[in-house]
Amino acid sequence: MMTQREPIAPRAPIWKVWRWKFHWQVLLAVVVGAVIGLVWARLSVVLQGPDWRDSTITAIADYKLRVIKLIGDLFLAALKMVVVPLVVSSLALSVASLGGRAGFGKMAGISISYFLGSSLIAVLIGLTCVNVIRPGNSGGDEPLLNTERVAQLEADFQAERSKVQSSSGTASGSDLLGVFRHLVPSNPFQAASETNLLGLITIAVLIGLFTPKLASHHSQLMIDFIQAVHDLTMLITDAILKTAPIGVGCLMIATLAEQGSRLLAQDKADSLLLLLQSLGWFAAAVVFGLLLHVFVVLPTLLFIFGRVNPIKHYRAMLPAMLTAFSTSSSNATLPVTIECVEQNVGVSRRTASFVLPLGATVNMDGTALYECVAAMFVVQLFGIELSLADQFLVVMVALLTSVGVAGVPSASLVAIIIILQSLDKQLASRGVEVSLQGGLALILIFDRVLDMARTVVNIFSDSCATVIVARSMGEEGFYESSTGSEVAATIATESADEARGE
Ligand code: ASP
Repeated sequence: MMTQREPIAPRAPIWKVWRWKFHWQVLLAVVVGAVIGLVWARLSVVLQGPDWRDSTITAIADYKLRVIKLIGDLFLAALKMVVVPLVVSSLALSVASLGGRAGFGKMAGISISYFLGSSLIAVLIGLTCVNVIRPGNSGGDEPLLNTERVAQLEADFQAERSKVQSSSGTASGSDLLGVFRHLVPSNPFQAASETNLLGLITIAVLIGLFTPKLASHHSQLMIDFIQAVHDLTMLITDAILKTAPIGVGCLMIATLAEQGSRLLAQDKADSLLLLLQSLGWFAAAVVFGLLLHVFVVLPTLLFIFGRVNPIKHYRAMLPAMLTAFSTSSSNATLPVTIECVEQNVGVSRRTASFVLPLGATVNMDGTALYECVAAMFVVQLFGIELSLADQFLVVMVALLTSVGVAGVPSASLVAIIIILQSLDKQLASRGVEVSLQGGLALILIFDRVLDMARTVVNIFSDSCATVIVARSMGEEGFYESSTGSEVAATIATESADEARGE
């Protein structure tokens, strides 16, 4: 008997990139953007000559680069625009739906244990890499940095430092406790306007905890309002994400063209050759540590505690990882991370809305690892040997500051200053007078590129936390991508109902 065959849907030709899956489109944008950016950087160095034709071409290229940067910045601004309403509404709804202190306590307990555990492992990996590779050692008797060179570096560093402090959102970077000053904001509107996520998390948790305690009609009104804000923000986020391939591509071109030409221009500084060489080893130590964490430690945690296949998780999180790579900002990537975890992984909205905003602010494995390697690298440049107690101090301060560091580009530089200052004090108490901060100027040369890599690790670890917490709260059925969104939607409806007390 003849059976009727299903007609096979014609495959779209490969060159129709707009028909590709979303994560492949973003990946293509990153690769093409990187290639164009690097070629641009090379050409801009080559064309800087005395000839008028060269300067005209350079001026035109500069103008074009500014337009490309503007498009990238608009994409970044659009993502940041939705972060505040998204964090407050999703976290408040999630806490409200957890049904009082017991549910909230369990989810918070598991999340915080994961955050501390994974960041501690990251710092220890960083410490091991920097002690084994020893990027700051000259190999001879003379240390690579001395007072003269430090004075010169500190002069370069002043301008950068004020730029870093104003952009990092950590206004006072001068002491360890300063980074926690933002935990309780005195003015909620100021916290929102400054994207002080640590403060907004406190506000959202309080709203979530106390809304169910209002008189029932008021409680219902509040929940409906927050739910509406949340749904509206998600719709806007969806629309913004459609432009991600263009936004991400433009950000890649602008970042690599700018940073690349700065790095290539360095090759005239022959006297710094030895320092630059050790800087290369420093970057290698950071990258090796990050790779170890993201491809060995985190998948092992996912496999053991989340009981999922890590390969599927990488595929599900690819768009968020690529966005983090191109924006260098966990905060700006948060809307994409939430979408990937809910839609592709299939974690409930209740869990994702709780763990991810918290993770984007508090859980920074890549940053913690980087801080540790960077601080130890500077110490090695000065030819100083640290005792075990000193190294313990570095580990603790790196761990604590990574919690307070904002999820914005280059934010960890402020934390590195804090670690170096703590070490200065520790060494001074033993009669070793040194100002380690001067060495930070060197790190700035590679910081932006390494920032891209560590931000990927930061958001990937947040996504692993979400899966592990979801599993511990009894969720199942991850990565069934066609049903993933349905699962998320069903649980989201349930949680909204629960929050309403139905
Ligand atoms: N750029 C990182 C982030 O947003 C923070 C840092 O390490 O500077 O996660």
